Amino acid sequence: MPRVPTKLPNPFSPVAIVAAVVMVMTACLLGLVVWKVLDARSMALAQGERDIRNLAHSLAEHASHSIQAADVAMAGMVDLLKYQRPREDRFNLYLRNTVATLPQIREIGVLNSEGNWIYSSLDQTPLHNNADRAYFTGHRDSTDPLLHISPPLRSRLTGRATIILSRRISNQDGSFGGVLVAAIDATYFDNFYKAFKFGRHAGISLLRNDGTVLAHWPDGKWNKDLSTAFKVRIGEAPSGYARTVSPFDGYTKYLGYETASLYPIVVTVALPEEDVLAAWHEGLRYDAVAAVVVMGTVVLLAVMLSAQFRRRARIEAALREREAGYRMLADNIADVVIRLDRGGKFLFVSQSVEAILGRKPDDLLGKSCFDFVHPDSRAELAKASSELTDWTTTKTVAFKTFRADGSEVWVEINFKLAGAAEDHQGIEVVGVLRDVTERRKMEDELNALNVRLAELATTDGLTRLANRRSFDNALPREFRDREQISVIMLDIDHFKGFNDSRGHQAGDECLRRVARVIADATENTSALAARYGGEEFAIILPGVDEQDALKVAEAIRLTIRSLAIANPASHRGVVSISLGIASRSAATADEAALVGAADGALYEAKRSGRNCAVLASTLASGNHSVGRKQYA
Ligand code: GH3
Ligand code: MG
Ligand code: MG
Repeated sequence: MPRVPTKLPNPFSPVAIVAAVVMVMTACLLGLVVWKVLDARSMALAQGERDIRNLAHSLAEHASHSIQAADVAMAGMVDLLKYQRPREDRFNLYLRNTVATLPQIREIGVLNSEGNWIYSSLDQTPLHNNADRAYFTGHRDSTDPLLHISPPLRSRLTGRATIILSRRISNQDGSFGGVLVAAIDATYFDNFYKAFKFGRHAGISLLRNDGTVLAHWPDGKWNKDLSTAFKVRIGEAPSGYARTVSPFDGYTKYLGYETASLYPIVVTVALPEEDVLAAWHEGLRYDAVAAVVVMGTVVLLAVMLSAQFRRRARIEAALREREAGYRMLADNIADVVIRLDRGGKFLFVSQSVEAILGRKPDDLLGKSCFDFVHPDSRAELAKASSELTDWTTTKTVAFKTFRADGSEVWVEINFKLAGAAEDHQGIEVVGVLRDVTERRKMEDELNALNVRLAELATTDGLTRLANRRSFDNALPREFRDREQISVIMLDIDHFKGFNDSRGHQAGDECLRRVARVIADATENTSALAARYGGEEFAIILPGVDEQDALKVAEAIRLTIRSLAIANPASHRGVVSISLGIASRSAATADEAALVGAADGALYEAKRSGRNCAVLASTLASGNHSVGRKQYA
């Protein structure tokens, strides 16, 4: 049953690594953004505190100087009134002039010890009594000469919210002489504070040290009494800064305050958190946009990278599959696939080499292929490889090599240059090697058979001499090519009788011994000796004249005679031969005529008593008795 592979995500796969890198980068980026945002926030808060404190200081100084200017003028007047009672119209004019030079002062007037107006900067000195006012009773009941600042109260003349600055007028004996009063419109400070550009929920307050609100921008809630906690705070430090909830509108704000240096008044500046952090919020939006853009880019790059990795993984898988296919092919065919570098070193050898050479591929890798070639074949192989000059040439060489056990094996290699398709010069050699030992064996056997067949076709089986066909083939050729040529015909004497008396086997043996003598006589010459038929033999002697042919014939005859093979049928008691010799002359028409002449001479030798050689030329004269010459 085939196994179904369970696909687990590989923690080291490129995609997983990309995902991890993206996560780490995201975490780093978020960390960086959070750190920057928090840092910017604390910087914004610190800047906000500086701004608020500076503003509180400036406004406290402004309030202090505004009151101080009136106070200086009032101190001079109180001093005057202690000793004098100036004319009403002249002092009123003086008061009007003073009011004109001090814009913060709406009016100045003097109350006598009963609380009635005796001087006023107004056109008409008011007629009402102010003895019930807290500041009046305060001065009456206390000898304190310092300036008193009242809580805002509603003016009986104008109905407007008014802060009263007042000083006690003492008589020369120290008794209560009245009160010098300067009125400041509470809106004076509001109008001044209005000039600052703040958000909706910002607030600036002018307070007395006891927490009484003298002026408040933007609401004008001037009659509010702030908590005792704030009083305590002011008592503890002349200036401060805190995050607090506004008692005016309930907003959470950053509050800075500073006590005026000369008077018991305090200025508070309160900015809502959103105003303090407005610039920071703006920066936060830019940071968020930048972070989103950077993250988007990172994610986009990661996606592209992952896609690239997946594509590469697919290509690698396809390559591996193809490689496995090639390897399976190389490893499973009987032939050995090899790759060599141009120097002949093995770069790749397929598994099948083990079956042919009994060697493992690793035993061959890196070694020279010539180390494994039989010395007899090395030159041939080197020559063939040197002839590989272009990538289209293929060479086939069969050579002997050695198995691991030392035995020889015939292999045939078919090889060519190979390389990249565009590199037609070839950078390596690829080849297919196969075991051809069996084929070589069969070829050798076939060659031997062919040689044997050729031999059978041309030689006589009994005597090993050339047969009649060889003789008939050779003679016309030799006759055509040679001016000088001789033929000997020879026949064993009384051979029928030999057979009859000694048997056929002895007859065959006799034929073989006679043939050996003929072969020996013609060995290493251009002569061709053949069994002509039965116990008859013929010898072609190219380039040999009649006399030399006669010598050959005589040598053969005498040698056979000397063998002394017993022949009971012959009166000589031993085997003898008769020979007829013919040489080419001008009259010889053709090769048949030459053989006929030799045959005729043989016949003549027989007729003359056998055991002799007869020259055909001696017969040609026609005078047998004279011209005939017998050799015996
Ligand atoms: P002559 O001296 O006139 O030549 O007499 P002869 O007996 O030799 O001549 P003949 O032609 O009558 O006899 C030839 C004999 O040679 C006949 C045959 O028995 C014998 N013979 C021919 N071929 C062979 C052979 O291959 N082996 C054997 N043993 N005998 C053969
Ligand atoms: Mg015969
Ligand atoms: Mg014979």
